[in-house]
Amino acid sequence: MQPILEAILNGASGDELAALPVPESYRAMVVRKDEVGMFEGMESSAKDPRKSLHLEEVSLPELAPDEAYVAVMASSINFNTVWTSIFEPLPTFLFLERYGKESSWAKRHDLPYQVVGSDASGVVLRVGSAVRNWRPGDKVTIHCNSVDDQDPSAHDDSMLATNQRIWGFETNFGGLADITVVKANQLMPKPAHLSWEEAAVNALCNSTSYRMLVGEHGARMKQGDVVLVWGATGGIGGYAVQYVLNGGGIPVGVVSSPDKADLLRDMGCEAVIDRAAGGYRFWKDATTQDESEWRRFGKDVRAAVGEDPDIVFEHPGRSTMGASIFVAKRGGTVVTCAATSGYMVEFDNRHFWMKLKRLIASHFANYREAWEANRLISRGAIQPLLSAVYPLDETGEAAYQVHKNQHEGKIGVLCLAPTEGLGIDDPAFREKVGEDRITVFRRHA
Ligand code: NDP
Repeated sequence: MQPILEAILNGASGDELAALPVPESYRAMVVRKDEVGMFEGMESSAKDPRKSLHLEEVSLPELAPDEAYVAVMASSINFNTVWTSIFEPLPTFLFLERYGKESSWAKRHDLPYQVVGSDASGVVLRVGSAVRNWRPGDKVTIHCNSVDDQDPSAHDDSMLATNQRIWGFETNFGGLADITVVKANQLMPKPAHLSWEEAAVNALCNSTSYRMLVGEHGARMKQGDVVLVWGATGGIGGYAVQYVLNGGGIPVGVVSSPDKADLLRDMGCEAVIDRAAGGYRFWKDATTQDESEWRRFGKDVRAAVGEDPDIVFEHPGRSTMGASIFVAKRGGTVVTCAATSGYMVEFDNRHFWMKLKRLIASHFANYREAWEANRLISRGAIQPLLSAVYPLDETGEAAYQVHKNQHEGKIGVLCLAPTEGLGIDDPAFREKVGEDRITVFRRHA
């Protein structure tokens, strides 16, 4: 990879990059199929990504006509890499086996290892013969929606495609590596005012929050809406708060420490609830919820903003869903994309139907939504949440931090980029957006 890296760092042209040979193998962070049983019988919290994630040299697969090789300068940790590395709720090799049966190109993905990672920024090295809009040398970020757009089920909303997959989670050849292999329609222009690592952390979480709150398939937030955001300084929550503020809404951010509460206020979110200080016990025990605790939480939300939420941005799942459904305003909406604390959720249906609430399921973002969300980053309207940076060989430690909820915002990972701070092509625009705004999570870390 060294000649490719030197060429990129020296500003080589697309033609020069295209003339360099691509290597037969590359460094990649993988989980191994022969280790899926390594944590059997252990509690989730004891399963350790540092034991299951390995840096290995893997073969570069052949390029399909609709794909691109991208030299990955930086990537990020998403919660899906935590799931993959603890083999929960299912080993992701099951996805690869199923995918491998779809076509001869898909068969490449069914391997005894999986290269993980669902975010990246980098430089296009090669494009397949059917790719028209991208060429070697293009600086890109990558969204994770991998879809066969020849399937008619993908035509209206690509998230409804029967073959929709998340790259680096339900596919192989993910972004935590020196090279990644992606469909060309996953590529988006890299925001020119951001460094490689700042540009790498956004696509997955930012696009998810965009669809949940702004896109026509989500909660369709409008001016003045009160939006309760769980995990408001986490990956998706940190983007959600920005969308609420940008769209004229009123965020109520829930976090779990005074430091996170300070960060949230620095982002411009005035109504903050520290759930650790509040000590809410929505579940009395493993099987019984406590409505009086939902009420106490609801009162605290009202005390913070004077009314009940029009929208609840939900993702913790089992711990909070009962409370989320309860506190939403009459006619309000709960939009959910996840279940970090458990997917068998429970709520009191009477509060749901009698008060005519809505529950919307959301998952990543379609091409359009991902593109719009990236555009808002490029225009400086949404800021990256980068709080810490790790080298590729310490991905296990970075994933461990996310698993243990010891992080804020997003953790970036340097893949080919030798140091932080490289890749800023438009310093004047960066200055206009404001260093303080761009680095707010980094300064608080
Ligand atoms: P992070 O870990 O960065 O943030 C989640 C935050 O949620 C935590 O920081 C924590 O904040 C809060 N939280 C965690 N557990 C609980 C709990 N039991 N009760 C209340 N709050 C809790 O993760 P992400 O934001 O990146 O992702 C959140 C979830 O969304 C994950 O499960 C992830 O897999 C999923 N996801 C789904 C996507 C999709 O397309 N469907 C896309 C992206 C993410 P605090 O402690 O401060 O309250």
